[in-house]
Amino acid sequence: MRSILLLSVITFAFFLTSSSQEQTNSPALSGPAINVQIPDVIIIPVVVHVVYNTPGQNISNDQVKSQIKVLNEDFRRKNKDAAYIPAAFKNFAADARIEFRLATIDPSGLPTDGIVRKSTAVSAFGMDDKIKSSLQGGDDPWNRDDYLNLWVGNLSGGTMGYASVPGCAPEKDGVVIKFTAFGNTPNLQAPFNRGRTAVHEIGHWLGLRHIWGDADCGDDKIDDTPPQAGPTRGCPSGVIATCSSGAAGNMYMNFMDFTNDDCTNMFTLGQAARMRELFNAGGARAALLRSVKAEGAVGENSPAAQLAGRIKIYPNPAVDKLNIQLNGSNSGYIVIYNNLGQIAKTFSITKNLMDLDISSLKNGMYFISIAGKGSYKFIKGE
Ligand SMILES: [Zn+2]
Repeated sequence: MRSILLLSVITFAFFLTSSSQEQTNSPALSGPAINVQIPDVIIIPVVVHVVYNTPGQNISNDQVKSQIKVLNEDFRRKNKDAAYIPAAFKNFAADARIEFRLATIDPSGLPTDGIVRKSTAVSAFGMDDKIKSSLQGGDDPWNRDDYLNLWVGNLSGGTMGYASVPGCAPEKDGVVIKFTAFGNTPNLQAPFNRGRTAVHEIGHWLGLRHIWGDADCGDDKIDDTPPQAGPTRGCPSGVIATCSSGAAGNMYMNFMDFTNDDCTNMFTLGQAARMRELFNAGGARAALLRSVKAEGAVGENSPAAQLAGRIKIYPNPAVDKLNIQLNGSNSGYIVIYNNLGQIAKTFSITKNLMDLDISSLKNGMYFISIAGKGSYKFIKGE
């Protein structure tokens, strides 16, 4: 978590889960288990839940988008202030090759801008996860296997944000950020006004500990971050050495310290490797590699989902009828998009074998999005 208060002891639970989150397949349709390869650049679909009690907390789409932009700069080492990484640490600074995209498809398979707005009677939330629950004045998460859930709202005390860690309960999975610290638009509150709170918290969500290991000269389990005595506050300069951090001193410009937004600028190679490990088969975030909920998401149009036997679509090309053999829950929608991304047809899912009348579609390539089952291409032909 990140806070403007001086906290004497901050514990950070860290779990690695070994449980696979892959969908189970029915015997009739199952093929060989597919291990989705970790792509060079991992793309994570994101939903932002804006939970507001006052108009000012109902932040603008621009503010939301500014946060996504910051994430994509910082996790790709495209941030301009990477130029200020001290020479001694430059060789350890990483492009984590992780990117974030606002979702374009919601859990029912319908189009979305990836932003959910929810009015609440709660004037300020604590770190008790109520903001993640519709019943408690917040907003329920979308399936964590498909999305990173970000909640933005008013937080009490000095809390700027907090994160769940890998292996937590599904209904609590995600990151919460105070509305004054989300993004980097001009209306935000210094010194946490450059979007780095979310960078830090998503670092936790991807398995990183604080750089001081949450103990005096503690161990963050990352080899290329020097030990340091505790969190850094404000915006120091020059070499500050604690513990046995070496000639270069503390890496107080690391995103996993508490330094002001203006004064952090890097993840290390070790941290990047740790975050990416979670996407290995069996890792806590591996399921996201199958998500099809945002443009460019790794699972989008991937044959892997079909090969895994979750659904069958035939014939392809199709003329008048397109058959879809579903596998599992029969609810939600099937949406057909043309190659401009416009909705061409929508069908309610009513049974396991859907036969769709596509006779009115013009010939060409279409994308078909099936609630909870992915998105695929098909050709309407003659
Ligand atoms: Zn933290």
